[in-house]
Amino acid sequence: MADRDDFGATLTFDLSRPGRVGCTLPPLDVPEAPLPSGDLLRDDITLPELSQPDVVRYFTQLSQRNFSIDTGFYPLGSCSMKYNPRINEVAARLSGLADVHPMQSDETAQGALALMHGLQRLLAEITGMHDVSLAPDAGAHGELAGILIASAYHNSNGGPRRRVLVPDSAHGTNPATAAMAGFQVESIPSDTDGNLDFEALRAALDSNGDSVAALMLTLPSTLGLFEPRITQIADLLHDHGALLYGDGANMNAMLGRVKPGDLGFDVFHLNLHKTFSTPHGGGGPGAGPIAVTAALAPFLPAPHVRQDKSSARFSLETPEHSIGRLGLFHGNFGVLVRAYAYILSLGAEGLRGISEAAVLNANYVLTRLRDAYRLPYDRRCMHEVVISGSRQKANGVKTLDIAKRLIDYGFHPPTIYFPLIVDEAMMIEPTESETKETLDAFCDAMLVIAKEAEATPDLVREAPARAPLRRLDEATAARKPVLRWTR
Ligand SMILES: *Cc1c(COP(=O)(O)O)cnc(C)c1O
Repeated sequence: MADRDDFGATLTFDLSRPGRVGCTLPPLDVPEAPLPSGDLLRDDITLPELSQPDVVRYFTQLSQRNFSIDTGFYPLGSCSMKYNPRINEVAARLSGLADVHPMQSDETAQGALALMHGLQRLLAEITGMHDVSLAPDAGAHGELAGILIASAYHNSNGGPRRRVLVPDSAHGTNPATAAMAGFQVESIPSDTDGNLDFEALRAALDSNGDSVAALMLTLPSTLGLFEPRITQIADLLHDHGALLYGDGANMNAMLGRVKPGDLGFDVFHLNLHKTFSTPHGGGGPGAGPIAVTAALAPFLPAPHVRQDKSSARFSLETPEHSIGRLGLFHGNFGVLVRAYAYILSLGAEGLRGISEAAVLNANYVLTRLRDAYRLPYDRRCMHEVVISGSRQKANGVKTLDIAKRLIDYGFHPPTIYFPLIVDEAMMIEPTESETKETLDAFCDAMLVIAKEAEATPDLVREAPARAPLRRLDEATAARKPVLRWTR
């Protein structure tokens, strides 16, 4: 059996003993079939031979090495690592939903289609947009859909536009999406308050403004700040025939309070795995529905669920000028079920409660940490707070060291070195689902670390002291990963 502290060095191959088996087969009750010819057979595949308890213990121990939202506080900014209520898991496992086959005909999958249609309507209501497609499988996938929609819209409306504007605080997927869709990406700076520099936006639009297809804006921004001029920004873009794209990864700050459609957004993606509760620590399945105005609805990706007015039957359709399909089948259906269960179990009041608690929690953390760490923008934050380790860096302790030291105190580190425009950034998103006691324990640890950074900086620089593996060579791990067992 692998030693608990032997983090990954012992593999099932090392535990293997010739002839050991984990299961027994019943006596053969069918005629023996002949083996294929010898040249098709291999006998050197060296599969591990293990007992059943060996296998169970090996994988159970591996699973316990994961830090997860079910085991601890996980303030990973921008990712909304919130608690995922078990009721959603129960719903996703209902056999009528879990066992539905993607090749089934529409007539035999009316329940699943009704759920998707219901979710389309709920998300349209929540975002204040006209219609929604559930097809994209992640936030970045939703961005790609949205930008392709913007492109198709302009092409059908007076010709192509080549430029997409992106604030310098944006998530990297925004410029990457625009570039992948064939646009020239132009960065718009932030002003000293952390807002979009309105005059820089105006200048970019005035220089050949009819060449701008869209501005991609995250609201609240990745600095955790609400954009006070959002409606003016929307108006300015629309005056130039450009569209306002909304990155909705931070919808947790606005649920039940603000509808992006009311603010002037034309197209807006949601991350169901962030805001609407799906476990998503390890890059697992996600969903990035895209919500649009009536003018853009004909371009939505397929499949889209429609309900026939007279028969009330649901069917999958391809909208009239659809940008097409983005992937196989109907997206990550299990994630859609969880989001649907989450929204219905909370109701409108419950959703509003989420944004209230998420914003309150982040401001509580801000208030407790503001004297120990530099606050680059001294304003009330939304659902996450960005602080800077620049003061500690002056003492030779970097943000990376602070993040590693948090591991010793039992916390998942926050997002670090993002957004790029904040020196030594730490982006802390506590989410709505944490108690005051947990927030206090985290803040206490951050305050102790700030003291350690002055009194015993080496302790922080050498952290984590209590993790089985300490500092990995991240470049080698990424560039020369050892993925193959050798005898
Ligand atoms: C997470 C995130 C994305 C990308 O979403 P994925 O689901 O990871 O593809 C885009 N923008 C922001 C602000 C995000 O936080």
